[in-house]
Amino acid sequence: MHLRRTQPLFRLLLICGVVISLTGCRTRSFLSTKQEIALGKEGARQIEAEYRVDTSSPDAERVRRIGTKLLPHVDQRDVPYSFKVLEANDVNAVALPGGPLYIFRGLLDIADPRDDDALACIIGHEIGHINGRHAARQISSQFITSILIYVGLPGATNQELARLASGVISLKYSREDELDADRRGLSYAQRAGYDPNGLIRFFTKLERMERRVGGEKNEWLRSHPLNTSRIERAKVLIENQNYRYGQ
Ligand SMILES: [Zn+2]
Repeated sequence: MHLRRTQPLFRLLLICGVVISLTGCRTRSFLSTKQEIALGKEGARQIEAEYRVDTSSPDAERVRRIGTKLLPHVDQRDVPYSFKVLEANDVNAVALPGGPLYIFRGLLDIADPRDDDALACIIGHEIGHINGRHAARQISSQFITSILIYVGLPGATNQELARLASGVISLKYSREDELDADRRGLSYAQRAGYDPNGLIRFFTKLERMERRVGGEKNEWLRSHPLNTSRIERAKVLIENQNYRYGQ
């Protein structure tokens, strides 16, 4: 029965895929906002089953305060954003489709506790992944999974949803998506009154840490690749005050 439902869709997606590959366009997302939210919810459930969520420490309050201050300045999307701290030593941050955003304790430990500007840029960057729909687009580029989602999450079994969500948690973004998230994050931070140079300060710290302990130990670097050209491009965006996203 599922097969009969998906066959015409498969043909439609095949045509779309051919058009995309012919025109060289970036893959568009086949997920609706509602589907992204459902996927994000399942991803959040999986993350919170694995890690303890810190809701009451000054760090948790700081992350919530900064995230909430950024929100009026992001390009508006009708999704339920949330900002949480996870008790885990990894230097990492995760943004799930549809709004859930997690900063790991390990990242807060290496960031300067007085540098709200840097943290605002990091949170802005993660919101940038949500608003740029980077995860949703990557999923859509994996053809088979996009069929499952395109027929509607109610049509997908809980198991399929769980598998997709666990894939979303461990996504590695492309260089292009990282740059897009940087661009968005810098814009949101600047519009909310933070200093965009905070991102450069954070990158410099990461670079130093990478030299010291190696990139393999740094989950954020693994899922958000950093290189010299990325830092230089962020500097150019700041120099040119190229803050074109958000409000
Ligand atoms: Zn990133």
